[in-house]
Amino acid sequence: MKPMIDLVIIGGGAAGMTAAVAASSFCQDIVLLEGKDRVGKKLLATGNGRCNYTNRILDHRCYYDADAQFTDAVLGSDANERLIAWMSSMGIESKIIDDRVYPHSEQASSVLDVLRMKLDSCHVHVKTNAKVQSLKKTDHMFEIQTLDDILYARKVILAAGSKAAPKTGSDGSGYVLARQAGLSVIQPLPALTGIKLDAPYCKSWNGVRCDGTIAVMKDGRLICSDTGQLQLTSYGVSGIPAFQISRYVSKALNDQSEVMISISFLPGEDSKSAFSMLKKRREQICSYRAADFLLGLLPKNLAVVLIKLSGVDRHVPVGQISDDQLHKLTDILTGLTAYAAGTGSFDQAQTCTGGVDIKQINPQTMECRQISGLYVAGEIMDVDGMCGGYNLQWAFSTGAKAGRAAGRA
Ligand SMILES: Cc1cc2nc3c(=O)[nH]c(=O)nc-3n(C[C@H](O)[C@H](O)[C@H](O)COP(=O)(O)OP(=O)(O)OC[C@H]3O[C@@H](n4cnc5c(N)ncnc54)[C@H](O)[C@@H]3O)c2cc1C
Repeated sequence: MKPMIDLVIIGGGAAGMTAAVAASSFCQDIVLLEGKDRVGKKLLATGNGRCNYTNRILDHRCYYDADAQFTDAVLGSDANERLIAWMSSMGIESKIIDDRVYPHSEQASSVLDVLRMKLDSCHVHVKTNAKVQSLKKTDHMFEIQTLDDILYARKVILAAGSKAAPKTGSDGSGYVLARQAGLSVIQPLPALTGIKLDAPYCKSWNGVRCDGTIAVMKDGRLICSDTGQLQLTSYGVSGIPAFQISRYVSKALNDQSEVMISISFLPGEDSKSAFSMLKKRREQICSYRAADFLLGLLPKNLAVVLIKLSGVDRHVPVGQISDDQLHKLTDILTGLTAYAAGTGSFDQAQTCTGGVDIKQINPQTMECRQISGLYVAGEIMDVDGMCGGYNLQWAFSTGAKAGRAAGRA
């Protein structure tokens, strides 16, 4: 049998690389196995290539449906400040834009460059094109099989990511490894992605950007909403507010529930104030054609769609729009509803909801409670954060924690 390695880390993303660096302060025999031809492919894609790695505002509420006790125990206090300081110690100065923290260079590649240099200086043995096929625990060690090799390790950190953006390497095989090792995995579903609507008019509003509030109704009950800039697409809605609520849509559709999406194009206005505003416009621009009634209020391509949906004859003068029609238009502007037909696929998702069940993990060490020597880090866990740097923060924090604990053990 080949000599036993002290620590093998599966996955060279933000979590795995951080774990390797953290562990290297305590142990020298570390092998990092990465399935792709290079580490950190997903990291390069983050924040549109700018890497929004944390946020000035951070607590368990930034993680959806989070087990607050677990999340707080993992992050502790000031996890964001500690991450910013760690980045700075490697030369990555920070830049803050609307509370979101980026490297000053605004280049994700600079974060990856310094992490790779750090792995090098810490003498971590990085093996690329080393996709792990199976992970087994016997009494005293782990057997890790890649396509062309078998390794034996005393301890393993599983940091193989989720199923989101599989081109970057996280193709869901981490969940298979987790199950092989004896962990239970909650069904992964796409999150932080667009929402498909069952509505033929989407083709006509494709390309429009506008402010709005988007809400999800599950079996007739409001379950969440978000406000900000919407990007209307040929399939439905994208943009940050749609991303933020997409995991609820994924879960509700997966439960076979009826899922309605409601959009207000006048965020902050209720029906009464919106109706008064439209009534005033009717007086002010009474001679315009009805087709132009919303001109200057909403982007033109959207206005055309909404007027058509209201049933108002586009050729009549605005002054002839009846109160009933104005009420209907008000309802459409403040709560256009359509059935959700789905979400973006795993290919289009930034993260997953679901993953390794956190009940099995000790939040102080990231070690699995029932499988000593096996640690879990990053997005492979059933923890998904909002847009804004929270998923990378999770990957860096859990990677550091797992690395320190596994290195010391
Ligand atoms: C387009 C996009 C933009 C994003 N922007 C942001 C952002 O700005 N801010 C933010 O906080 N989050 C962002 N995210 C989410 C964030 O990138 C992830 O949450 C984070 O990178 C997860 O890190 P990880 O190390 O857990 O997983 P990954 O980065 O996915 O790393 C896992 C690694 O494991 C390797 N691997 C998988 N299976 C195996 C195997 N069987 N054997 C060996 N290796 C394996 C993979 O190749 C991969 O390199 C974005 C995601 C995407 C897709």
